[in-house]
Amino acid sequence: MRLQNRLNAVVYDTVIIGAGLSGLAAGIRLAYYEKKVCVVEKHYTIGGLNSFYRLRKRDHDVGLHAVTNYAAPGTKTGPLSKLLRQLRLRWEDFALCPQIESSVVFPGHTLRFNNEFEFFRSQVEQEFPSQKDGFNRLVERINSHDELHLTNETASARAVLNETLSDQVLIDMLFCPLMFYGSPTPHDMDFSQFVIMFKSIFEEGFARPARGVRLIMKNLVNHFRKLGGELRLKSGVQKILSENGHATGVLLDNGDVIEAKNVLSSAGIAETLRLSDCPAPLQAENPPGAISFVETIFSLDCQPADLGHRQTIVFYNDADPFHYEPPTDPCDLRSGIVCSPNNFQYGEGDEIEEGRIRITALADPKYWEPLSDDAYYPAKDDWCARIAAAAVKHIPDFRKHVVDTDMFTPRTITKFTSHLNGAVYGAPKKVRDGRTHLDNLFICGTDQGFLGIIGSMLSGISMANLHLLK
Ligand SMILES: Cc1cc2nc3c(=O)[nH]c(=O)nc-3n(C[C@H](O)[C@H](O)[C@H](O)COP(=O)(O)OP(=O)(O)OC[C@H]3O[C@@H](n4cnc5c(N)ncnc54)[C@H](O)[C@@H]3O)c2cc1C
Repeated sequence: MRLQNRLNAVVYDTVIIGAGLSGLAAGIRLAYYEKKVCVVEKHYTIGGLNSFYRLRKRDHDVGLHAVTNYAAPGTKTGPLSKLLRQLRLRWEDFALCPQIESSVVFPGHTLRFNNEFEFFRSQVEQEFPSQKDGFNRLVERINSHDELHLTNETASARAVLNETLSDQVLIDMLFCPLMFYGSPTPHDMDFSQFVIMFKSIFEEGFARPARGVRLIMKNLVNHFRKLGGELRLKSGVQKILSENGHATGVLLDNGDVIEAKNVLSSAGIAETLRLSDCPAPLQAENPPGAISFVETIFSLDCQPADLGHRQTIVFYNDADPFHYEPPTDPCDLRSGIVCSPNNFQYGEGDEIEEGRIRITALADPKYWEPLSDDAYYPAKDDWCARIAAAAVKHIPDFRKHVVDTDMFTPRTITKFTSHLNGAVYGAPKKVRDGRTHLDNLFICGTDQGFLGIIGSMLSGISMANLHLLK
């Protein structure tokens, strides 16, 4: 260790690895209670999986289709209002505009939904009349489940759905959006995770800030800094330092040492264990996830609504049954998500000027990550075109209107977030209580188990409250 770089002998209360949503939310909570806290981020900018960038004079979001868990401003209950209260933020700081309408489209069946759950219930009754009672029993079971309890045992959501519903198409149609927006495991989900996603998507719903995720990220960082928090960008952690089962700080890639009484990591459980010289058997018990995606972003010379496309998000699947797993091909063309950032209920003057269509498809990290640059860029062009061709079976054909295209792959995700395999929803085995083999090293974010935009912030808050504000 290069002790000559030990930074001014400051000892922080907590050093947080990662300036994504969970790390920044935890940082705000700690700084509010006057803890000396430093967030270190490997990348040159904030946001992690939910960052933003500018390309050819266009602003893009990395990981925002929609903010889930929508609640109207002033609502007193639910995850969003809890989050704002805990972080001392105002509703205007997120400026959320609700979705118009979304749908799940399978062969022979379409389920539409908006931010009113009774509309979705009526859709299920209309498309699957024989499943009405079973669906109502499932909803009761979901609403009586305490999904956030940190000691919940892992349980199969498919088993629960099979107890209440008999139509496999309906079961898959319920799984499809919930898996696409939050399952680290193929085929099935942990029931608590299913409940989190069901409530956040079908019961609460989607929204988006008119200016995208920039607004949320910048408000988080400004708030954190105003409270006295320190943020260091381009500061990758190469090692978590420890003595006798106790973390003492972090060693950065540039040789600097930051000493701290606690370390909170949002880098992922497998990634964090690797950074902390954890014994090999424990590392083997916590493998990284394998579910990753490609995301294609098409800029159009018209609004999607001009082509007749007014839906906010379309989850489509052509296969019987639905498959959610790392594909054997570079991308899975049988299913995907089409999101149009234009199709939200923006206030007057807030509409996005340029038309955008984003399409997400499952992708195989083992194909994308090792490609040489010579093979990578042509492969991107090829699969981008194939994905668009697959999606236009479900939405109006927008391809003649494309004026610019960007695409990112599992390789991009690994490069900019350091998540192994570009695994968007992290490891299959979550660490709900956030504890690790070191008594003061904790996990927050995706691999603690609350994920997505709102979930990861709640994770940072919960872990800060539970372990670092006692
Ligand atoms: C394409 C895509 C679409 C998505 N769409 C949605 C959506 O519509 N709605 C929604 O709710 N969610 C969506 N998500 C998911 C959501 O973005 C994530 O769940 C959330 O951002 C995770 O936040 P986090 O803080 O847990 O992790 P991360 O954002 O991964 O933050 C971890 C941070 O740690 C940093 N880091 C890692 N290793 C080190 C190290 N050694 N040293 C220093 N720093 C390190 C990383 O660079 C990163 O910034 C999407 C994600 C993707 C990729």
